Amino acid sequence: MSRIRIKVDPDLCIGAASCVTVAPESFELNADNKAEVLDHGKAPNAPSYERWVEVTEEEKENMILAAQSCPTLAVYVFDEEGKQLFPE
Ligand code: SF4
Repeated sequence: MSRIRIKVDPDLCIGAASCVTVAPESFELNADNKAEVLDHGKAPNAPSYERWVEVTEEEKENMILAAQSCPTLAVYVFDEEGKQLFPE
């Protein structure tokens, strides 16, 4: 398991929902049609535009795929040391 930080820039998000399609366990559209980051079931009712999540290697890869799928590159992924994994 590793800890990563996921951030959605709501100003860039256009509600295209690609991230939700790729990683429905991690993203959810809110009432403003902006993607928020879920806490992998730990706090399903408390989405946020930014949060730390504990993920397996597979989940991490999937979140990066979700970020890559975003047409406006509104999803940022950082590792535990704060290094930006995506966009590169
Ligand atoms: S893929 Fe990008 S634009 Fe679409 S909902 Fe997710 S963050 Fe927003």
